[in-house]
Amino acid sequence: MNCRHCNTKLLHTFLDLGFAPPSNAYLTIEDLPKTEKSYPLKIMVCDKCWLVQTLDFLDADQLFTSEYSYFSSTSSSWLDHSKSYVDKVCSMLALDEQSQVLEVASNDGYLLKNFVERNIPCLGIEPTDSTANAAEELGIPVVRKFFDEEFAKYLASKDLIADLIVGNNVYAHVPDINDFTRGLKIALKPSGTITLEFPHLMRLIEHGQFDTIYHEHYSYLSLYTSSRVLANNGLRVYNVEELTTHGGSLRIYACHQDDERQTHESVEQLLIREEEFGLKDLAVFKNFKSKVEKIKSDLLSFLIEQRKSGKSVVGYGAAAKGNTLLNYAGVKTDLLKYVVDASASKWNKYLPGSQIPIYDIEILRREEIDYLLILPWNIKEEVILQNSFLLDSETKFCVAIPHFHFCKTEQ
Ligand SMILES: [Zn+2]
Repeated sequence: MNCRHCNTKLLHTFLDLGFAPPSNAYLTIEDLPKTEKSYPLKIMVCDKCWLVQTLDFLDADQLFTSEYSYFSSTSSSWLDHSKSYVDKVCSMLALDEQSQVLEVASNDGYLLKNFVERNIPCLGIEPTDSTANAAEELGIPVVRKFFDEEFAKYLASKDLIADLIVGNNVYAHVPDINDFTRGLKIALKPSGTITLEFPHLMRLIEHGQFDTIYHEHYSYLSLYTSSRVLANNGLRVYNVEELTTHGGSLRIYACHQDDERQTHESVEQLLIREEEFGLKDLAVFKNFKSKVEKIKSDLLSFLIEQRKSGKSVVGYGAAAKGNTLLNYAGVKTDLLKYVVDASASKWNKYLPGSQIPIYDIEILRREEIDYLLILPWNIKEEVILQNSFLLDSETKFCVAIPHFHFCKTEQ
């Protein structure tokens, strides 16, 4: 396979996680006896543009289906994050009733509802019916589509090009990053702004966040590579912010190449730090494997020890992250009884691959639990706070990444 961005032959493996089912393909009880489809989960790095990318096995329409069950509004910290972004960007760009905002992958309306409240015209683009329905119930206009160059041309023909295009956690999820980026260029007004948020590759490597690797996540991006892709499509990154979300993300601000805005010094500074870290050094990519193997063996040692001593371990959060970790480590119900999740759409289903059952979080109030393994480590503080009643029964909270440890709690 050749690089999705620059078409150079891909020669270097970053990480090989074996076979895995699509991480959002939750199973019903009827599905359990059937053979699950699983696909290689292998990540390559391009030695020319340094785009880290999955090998092609699955099409986007196999992954983002009408039953897609990731609802952004489930996380209260993500809702807060989105609201403060809207406050900031509205004043920064002086958006008002005359402006047009476009959000690509608007999910359940977690973000656009803040523009609706301010009477700023907005449009969501979202291919999954389940989440689009939820957004429409909030009064947000949604087009059920994948965003691409062709659709951007359609928007332009309807005079719907935007002052602000928002893409939160979508840039890394598009199979054809060049086509998507051409679309961004077309759908942007001459003086418009694009903001894109995505997990930062530098943090992934630094903190062993291999569980953010799954089929839906086609690209693993740095500022260097994302700037390069945008530049090759006539867009320029003029500012960048480092965020704590998803274990360390970037928010990049882009405009047309010939826009008058000056490029902020944060861009050059981060490019230098990325290079110093080794994001253009193959050895840094090749050494990642040993870090991942240690995370796996530490988690398994803990789980096996608890099983031997008759202690119960339950997982929190039936999300993509957990699936990658559990499937790679080969964890099944003998080691992890069940997983709880706040999202009702997942209750009484089973995790893909491991087939671990998913229950309503209310079960935590009824059963005695020795250890709660928090799978979405990026929201561990929120999880501990919401489940602090468990501390009375001496349940301990733990996470597997960046390395296995017990979480510090108030008691
Ligand atoms: Zn490349």
